Amino acid sequence: MTVSPLTLSARDGIDASVDRGIRAIVSGAASGETCATELAAAPWTFDAAPGYGPGASMGDVIPAGAPRQGALPAQYREASEDELHQRIRDAKAALGSRLVILGHFYQRDEVVRHADYVGDSFQLANAAKAHPEAEAIVFCGVHFMAETADLLSGPDQAVILPNLAAGCSMADMADIDQVEDCWEQLEDVYGPLDQRDADGLLPVIPVTYMNSSAAIKGFVGRHHGIVCTSSNARTVLEWAFARGRRVLFFPDQHLGRNTAKAMGVPLEAMPMWNPHRPLGGSDEPTLRDARVILWHGFCSVHRRFTVEQIEKARAEHPGVRVIVHPECPMPVVDAADEAGSTDVIRRAIEEATTPTTFAIGTEINLVQRLAAQHPQHTIFCLDPVVCPCSTMYRIHPGYLAWTLEELVAGRTVNRISVPADVAEPARLALDRMLACVPQAPARRA
Ligand code: SF4
Repeated sequence: MTVSPLTLSARDGIDASVDRGIRAIVSGAASGETCATELAAAPWTFDAAPGYGPGASMGDVIPAGAPRQGALPAQYREASEDELHQRIRDAKAALGSRLVILGHFYQRDEVVRHADYVGDSFQLANAAKAHPEAEAIVFCGVHFMAETADLLSGPDQAVILPNLAAGCSMADMADIDQVEDCWEQLEDVYGPLDQRDADGLLPVIPVTYMNSSAAIKGFVGRHHGIVCTSSNARTVLEWAFARGRRVLFFPDQHLGRNTAKAMGVPLEAMPMWNPHRPLGGSDEPTLRDARVILWHGFCSVHRRFTVEQIEKARAEHPGVRVIVHPECPMPVVDAADEAGSTDVIRRAIEEATTPTTFAIGTEINLVQRLAAQHPQHTIFCLDPVVCPCSTMYRIHPGYLAWTLEELVAGRTVNRISVPADVAEPARLALDRMLACVPQAPARRA
């Protein structure tokens, strides 16, 4: 049986820390494999280098203008882990209700332990909304999540991303200029895109996954479109099909394909749009027959999961329950027992009443935490190679301590602000989603 040693220790209730596990693998203290030994180092050692950093996105091409993080002061780089945790606790106590810390499911355990709320990106943005008294919302996640929190929070609240290098390679795959260019080309194929046909339908409704920049959400809002999450993608697509002949779905091709396929849309009616090729690499007849045009984007974390991993899990663990995230490629979703958002995965494990073996296809930090929290079950990540999300990994307790102590000193660093001309239509796209789908709340940590 080959199971990540990280998962084995977590299953025994010993340790939920992916970071400590990686360091143990790299030092030779534990067996196992990691996709990048540099992960054992602190993020500031590679913040100055271009790229997404070690982890699942390290092979992706980062846009030239992606935000970079300035140097972290030495006192935080040189502090011990225990000292950083104490400084974070002290700063939190000093700030009291002026501060809310949000921690995404995929954050390292050393950061999540300080969060007031833990959840997915939209749950967390909504949690911030419930704290109008907080002057600062520190979002331990990635850039598009902090933007969404800024859209949903009050104008006097500062949303802070502890490390500006924490972007998202998938969100970066749909650049606003590329999307505007795509829209112009689609207008050449379908005619005026704001003109309804005899049935009252628009030629194309743009739908963007929450994992996209505020600029993309604003584009969608301006063009009769809507935002979706991995929990509500089907309901949102139904909303869009009630208003348009077809959907342009970005940035994640897999969520779009998996969702539309489950709704009965044939694969041949789902052409891919590659922004680097004329007509997205498609042709006019195909685009005219399309029901869902899929943007050529993907999550490098979820693309690591394979059908072979599922077959191996089934061979080694008869009766295993395989649950994967819908950002995984279609054959993986088809081979799994269930597919669902991070929240669906978490609830499935919580609701299992008898000891069960789960093989999970999502980010290792969440899998590891679930395994530690539920020792009555056997829970392991389908991918035996430990390879966290590169950009989530950029948030380290050192950056959290720095941003909090700056707040205590009356200074706001790393604030994420969405310009008003983008924010207004982006909120419209989010409001359309809220009007058609109620959201599950984030949990207090
Ligand atoms: S897990 Fe994937 S979609 Fe989420 S932040 Fe990382 S790269 Fe982006």
